[in-house]
Amino acid sequence: MYYAYWMNQTTFTPGKILCVARNYRDHAKEMGSDAPSEPVFFLKPCTSIVPDPSKAIIPSWTNDFQHEIELVVRIGRMCRNCTAAEAVSAIDGVAVGIDFTARDMQQRRKQAGMPWEQAKAFDGACLLSPFVGADALDLSALDLDLSVNGVVRQQGNSSQMVHDIPALIAAASRYFTLEENDLIMTGTPAGVGRLEHGDRVVATIAGVGALDFAVVDEGAV
Ligand code: MG
Repeated sequence: MYYAYWMNQTTFTPGKILCVARNYRDHAKEMGSDAPSEPVFFLKPCTSIVPDPSKAIIPSWTNDFQHEIELVVRIGRMCRNCTAAEAVSAIDGVAVGIDFTARDMQQRRKQAGMPWEQAKAFDGACLLSPFVGADALDLSALDLDLSVNGVVRQQGNSSQMVHDIPALIAAASRYFTLEENDLIMTGTPAGVGRLEHGDRVVATIAGVGALDFAVVDEGAV
């Protein structure tokens, strides 16, 4: 149930999901640091994808479940050590995604000098819209908006990325062989914040799609 997703009505099975940390300067600043000079990646397994995109579930073990709206890129063919130009031709779809984060666990792990993967890779930590083709889009100039209960929290543009999408794919391919159906979550603009049971979230990327979902406590499901 977790593994099937959609690209223009065609079902596919997502591979690995690479995520980029602090790829918008204003978000890096709100997290208390500068943006890294080279992309920093972490991974979510495909089991983190929310099976029903109308509902996000807050795990019982976190008290700070946060939203991060991100442009998600689907890789269409294998690439390793690719150039930025080759990276562009490897993109075959884009979607709206939410990189859900258990911020309390992440901060505890950072303070302890321990890996914080669990705070990003748990079941339900990735919400995706259907994918659409990228050919007609300028991926370097897309507006991202996320509102909670009708109040805007995040508003940005993909032009504000520190490392643009071709650079991200090329950098990722130096460490990880990228395969067809791998996904890259390209970072979030400022305004990340806590979600509570009963919240209604609308996340939109102009020309790409929209997510509209309810937030529910695990205990209430
Ligand atoms: Mg993120």
